[in-house]
Amino acid sequence: MVQTEREPRKTRILILGGGFAGLNTVLALEKLLEDDERVEILLINRENYILFTPMLSEVAIGTVDPRHIVTPIRELCWKTEFHRGEVIQIDLEAQQVDVLYNGLPHERDTLRYDHLVLAMGSTTNVMLVPGVDKYAFNFKEIGDALLIRNHILEMFERADTTANPEAKRAMLTFSVIGGGYSGVEIAAAIQSMTERLEPLYPTIMPEDIRVVIVEAQGRILGTLPEDLSAYAHKELLAMGVEVLTDTKTQQVFSDCMALSNGETIRTHTVVWATGVVIPPLLMNLQCNKDIKGRPLGTPELRLKGYQNVWAIGDNVLTPLPDASGFYPPTAQVSVQQGRFVAKNIVNALQGKPLEIFQFKQKGEMVVLGERSAVAIVSGYKLKGFAAWVLWRLFYLSKLPRWTKKIRVAVDWILNLFGPTESTQIKVHMREASADPNEVDGDRLNIPEAIPRGIENKSEKLGAYEN
Ligand SMILES: Cc1cc2nc3c(=O)[nH]c(=O)nc-3n(C[C@H](O)[C@H](O)[C@H](O)COP(=O)(O)OP(=O)(O)OC[C@H]3O[C@@H](n4cnc5c(N)ncnc54)[C@H](O)[C@@H]3O)c2cc1C
Repeated sequence: MVQTEREPRKTRILILGGGFAGLNTVLALEKLLEDDERVEILLINRENYILFTPMLSEVAIGTVDPRHIVTPIRELCWKTEFHRGEVIQIDLEAQQVDVLYNGLPHERDTLRYDHLVLAMGSTTNVMLVPGVDKYAFNFKEIGDALLIRNHILEMFERADTTANPEAKRAMLTFSVIGGGYSGVEIAAAIQSMTERLEPLYPTIMPEDIRVVIVEAQGRILGTLPEDLSAYAHKELLAMGVEVLTDTKTQQVFSDCMALSNGETIRTHTVVWATGVVIPPLLMNLQCNKDIKGRPLGTPELRLKGYQNVWAIGDNVLTPLPDASGFYPPTAQVSVQQGRFVAKNIVNALQGKPLEIFQFKQKGEMVVLGERSAVAIVSGYKLKGFAAWVLWRLFYLSKLPRWTKKIRVAVDWILNLFGPTESTQIKVHMREASADPNEVDGDRLNIPEAIPRGIENKSEKLGAYEN
């Protein structure tokens, strides 16, 4: 057992998920309950860090170091007890949560709570299109970005030495499924990366390289105003990115993808940048749900039907104050909900009336490679270089901790003036490692570990034709 459950003498606030929503709840609670010794805060998160997703595409192409966009949770909170673990079951009636530590079934604990905050974000459904689960790269975690970067470099290395022009073209075709924010950003970033890499490979010509976005809807960036979406489309074309709208991906194979327009794109690189859904653990909760089975929240940020369960961020549908729809799954909404829910939890603890969450829209921004962006801020629309500068300044200011801000700023400056960083860093998991649960040579009776961690998707893609 990692931790023995004690009778909670203090009022326990248990927060599940330490992303934008959960961590901001913790930080706000720590301030509000600074001197209150009767309350304990416990945070569970799968990773020991928070990931700053807006800069993930920069990690995927190597302009920002991966460590610079993640911040250890333990460094950010002081009053909160933090456990790195996997929440595997939530029992709202018994008011308890089961957590698995270190991927080991025997290291499982049951934690009781007085107040529960659900902040477990979203997950990616890779089963929507056949072959995506096996052959496409996800684009959500820091490990995904590292895999994508290594794989692009692998493709350049292989293409440089192949004599078969068709195989070379397939290796140098990079496809992204989904023309939403993250799809557009990663496609533009890959295009910039390929432009920087191409001069380093003598046998590769600019015309050998193809970057394609496949979008099922009629336009990319469908949530932005039409003129900004059209501008982004034009910018991408000018950069050399192909944009296929009204086109569905029907199947992904190891060396190609089949599209609804009849085209088959020969490619070894498919990035899945769509299919964001609420995690199955939340979908299986016994609570009020919408027609698609997604948990419903209240304007006070409670889980509908529960007095002491709060739900924020991407893992719940929170109604807009005028009940015309739901808040979108964005970092901005999650951060504000995190801070707000802390106040309402304290209100509830003190028997005060709850307040209704009102989101303050600061703006929306999408970066298009290394010199352009589109943005809408306080109703004003910005495009091109000015929007790009704003994007950088805004997100730099939002990074947690000044050390991270400086590191990212230095990465950006070096990237502007320095040579292209084209080192391929291969990651291999150790086959068999010493088990830290082995005590003095006596193995504890441990069932097989549940594997987690980085696997090399390149190896999954099968043989590259030469
Ligand atoms: C590539 C990319 C770029 C993005 N860019 C932007 C942007 O520019 N602007 C913007 O507003 N939004 C952006 N987003 C969306 C934004 O990241 C999400 O809306 C935001 O992270 C949601 O916050 P959250 O706290 O609800 O979830 P998350 O930040 O995802 O946090 C959830 C946490 O819960 C943990 N967790 C989940 N399940 C379990 C479990 N069973 N046990 C333990 N822990 C668990 C996860 O590990 C994670 O740490 C982007 C997303 C991606 C993927």
